[in-house]
Amino acid sequence: MGDLRFSFELFPPRTAEGVAKLPTVVAELAALRPDFFSVTHGAGGSDQDGTYETLLTVVRQTGIEAAPHLTCIGSTRANVAAQLERYREAGVKRIVALRGDLPATAMSSAAPGEFQYAGDLVRFIREEHGDAFWIEVAAYPEMHPQAENPGADFDHFRRKVEAGADAALTQLFYNSEAYFDFMERCGRAEIRIPIYPGILPITSFEKTQRFCSGCGADLPRWVRLRLEQLKDDKQALLDFGLSVVTRLCETLLRNGAPGLHFYTINQAAPTMRLWEALGMAVPA
Ligand SMILES: Cc1cc2nc3c(=O)[nH]c(=O)nc-3n(C[C@H](O)[C@H](O)[C@H](O)COP(=O)(O)OP(=O)(O)OC[C@H]3O[C@@H](n4cnc5c(N)ncnc54)[C@H](O)[C@@H]3O)c2cc1C
Repeated sequence: MGDLRFSFELFPPRTAEGVAKLPTVVAELAALRPDFFSVTHGAGGSDQDGTYETLLTVVRQTGIEAAPHLTCIGSTRANVAAQLERYREAGVKRIVALRGDLPATAMSSAAPGEFQYAGDLVRFIREEHGDAFWIEVAAYPEMHPQAENPGADFDHFRRKVEAGADAALTQLFYNSEAYFDFMERCGRAEIRIPIYPGILPITSFEKTQRFCSGCGADLPRWVRLRLEQLKDDKQALLDFGLSVVTRLCETLLRNGAPGLHFYTINQAAPTMRLWEALGMAVPA
């Protein structure tokens, strides 16, 4: 697979069972030798210690780089500065810089903080730390659900890149044309950073529908109908989901995607099955 880059996203476990299971999941995923893991972060700093601790656990256990997601909505500059210092001291070299979403109640009752958009965070990181961090940002081939329209959303993405992003990870999608259209628009706008498709393996009808509607991703009608029909036959659903996502990944990689970012949802098996179906080597 040459110079392609692969990354695996984890979240800080929130239950005792999740904490107990994480080392096994991480060991199985680490055996595939991703370029890095990333660890999500609640908006408003709600689980900043969870992100930090999960990140350190992953690095100590595997020796593989891990990148924290850092959300800025609802945070102060002082809080973000302190988190960046802590990550720098821990040897972190890569940050996934995001706005994040606050619950509606928090948005209405509290001040929105000192950052409004991810672009503000990217600018702040560059001002405070120069090039000490490689900065990844989010991209939305099917448009961010709160954007006014696709053109405005794209302009905001372009400005976020101009603020200093090095690479982007996309929101999940099941429609490769949306990614290729986004890449064409990037080409016309002379945006040269690599943009890695975000891939969510399909393991359940309900969850796939929920994730898609939550982030504004299109679940193609034929896929939805097939998943709905197979929802009580777990193995058949997994097989069908695997074939859909394998074809998606193959199409993306064959047509220029620089690698893939897997939303693992802290499960090793779906990503491992996909890895195997893509014919990717498992290093000895
Ligand atoms: C790869 C990936 C990882 C993620 N990880 C996390 C995570 O760990 N924790 C979490 O809470 N969420 C996470 N999210 C979700 C993300 O926080 C939400 O999608 C959030 O709503 C937007 O974040 P953003 O960084 O894309 O925001 P932005 O780039 O700031 O965009 C948000 C919205 O504001 C608009 N906008 C941007 N700039 C401007 C401007 N200057 N003026 C007017 N409008 C503007 C955009 O068009 C868009 O509609 C992740 C998403 C992705 C794709």
